[in-house]
Amino acid sequence: MTSFAQLTTTKVGGSPRALIEATTRDELIAAYSATASHHQVIVLGQGSNTVVGDEGFDGTVILVRSQGIEILRDNGNQVDVRVQAGHGWDDFVLWAVEQGLAGVEGMSGIPGTVGAAPVQNIGAYGQELQSITLGVDFLPEGASEPERMEVSELGFAFRTSVFKQGLTGVILSVDMRLSRPAGGLSEPIAYEQLATALNLRLGDTAPLTAVRERVLELRRSKGMLLDANDPDTNSTGSFFMNPIVRASFALDLPLEAPRWPVDEDGKLVKLSAAWLIENAGVTKGFALPGSRASVSTKHTLALTNRGGATTEEVLELARYIQAVVQSNFGLILQPEAILINAEI
Ligand SMILES: Cc1cc2nc3c(=O)[nH]c(=O)nc-3n(C[C@H](O)[C@H](O)[C@H](O)COP(=O)(O)OP(=O)(O)OC[C@H]3O[C@@H](n4cnc5c(N)ncnc54)[C@H](O)[C@@H]3O)c2cc1C
Repeated sequence: MTSFAQLTTTKVGGSPRALIEATTRDELIAAYSATASHHQVIVLGQGSNTVVGDEGFDGTVILVRSQGIEILRDNGNQVDVRVQAGHGWDDFVLWAVEQGLAGVEGMSGIPGTVGAAPVQNIGAYGQELQSITLGVDFLPEGASEPERMEVSELGFAFRTSVFKQGLTGVILSVDMRLSRPAGGLSEPIAYEQLATALNLRLGDTAPLTAVRERVLELRRSKGMLLDANDPDTNSTGSFFMNPIVRASFALDLPLEAPRWPVDEDGKLVKLSAAWLIENAGVTKGFALPGSRASVSTKHTLALTNRGGATTEEVLELARYIQAVVQSNFGLILQPEAILINAEI
C-alpha cells in the first residue's frame, strides 16, 4: 500500500487503509459521498502541508487530482476564473502569468493544489489568497449536493480559514478574480525583499514574468521550492506559524525581536517565529543527536527529513523547538502544518 511517506512532501508516515484517486469533480463527489459518513477520510492534495503519524491512518485517503481552468467572465480589465481543486497551484500561477493576469505572481512556487489553497489562505511575498478569492464550490460532510460558499463565509485570516478551524468537507473548485494590467505588469510590489531583488521600491510594478522569476529564485535560495535533489525541501515549508500576540506581551520581548501590527488599533502584533527559534538557540541545520530530521540548512522554520526519518523524529524536533522557545520567550509556537495521528 502506498504510504504517506510517498504522498507527502516531508516524506514521513505510515499507510492509509485505502486510497482513491479522484481525477474529475464527479469522481471527487462520488468518492467523498461514499466514504465521508464514516468520518474516516482524509482529503489530500499534494501533501505539502500535512504530516501523518508513523502508524498511518485507519481510513481512506482521497487524492484530489481533478484538473482544469475555466474563464467565467472577462471584461478586459478583470478576469474571473474557476480552477478545479486538484490543479497544481503553481501550474495555475504559471498560466495566469502567461495570460498577462496579475494577482497571484507573488505566490509563484507555493507547492500544493488549488483546492487546498483556501484551507490555510496561502500567501507569500505580499500576496494572499483571500484578496483574489470570490468563493468556492464545496461539498460539506454528510451533504448530497455541493454548495457555493462566498469569500465572506470562508473565515479567512492569517494562514487560516473555516476549513482549518474544523468545517469538514471537500473543496471542489475555487473561483478567483485576476486583473489584467496594461503591459503585462504585476500588482504593486508589497514585500520589501522582493522589491529589493527587483531593484524596485515598494509599490512599484514590474513585468509579471520578472516577478515570477525573482520569487522562484528567492524561494529556491530558502529551500521553499520543491526540489527532489534538495533535502531542505522535504518539509511542509513553515512548520510553525508566526505567532500573533498582544502588543503588551511583545513589550517584554527583546527590542530587536521583529514585530508587525496586525490590527488597526495596534493591540495585536505578529512576531517572527524564525527569529524566536534562532534566538532560542536553534540554528539552521540543527538536529537532535542521532535524528534524521533537522531544521533546514536554509530556513529555521522548515523541519526537514534528511532521508529515512520517521514522523516521530520530525515531531521530537518540533517539540524541542517549542520547548526552548517557550522557556526563552514565554510563548508556545503553534504548528502551521496539519498533523494527523501525530501530536506535538
Ligand atoms: C517547500 C514548501 C514551501 C511552502 N511555502 C508556503 C508559502 O510560501 N505559503 C503558504 O501559505 N504555504 C506554503 N507551504 C504550505 C503548502 O504549500 C500549502 O499549505 C498548500 O496549500 C498545501 O497544498 P496541498 O495540496 O499540498 O495540501 P495537503 O497537504 O494535501 O492538504 C492540506 C490540508 O488541506 C486539506 N485539503 C486538501 N485538499 C482539500 C480539498 N480539495 N478540500 C478540502 N480540504 C482539502 C487536507 O485535508 C489537509 O488538511 C509550503 C510547503 C512546502 C513543502
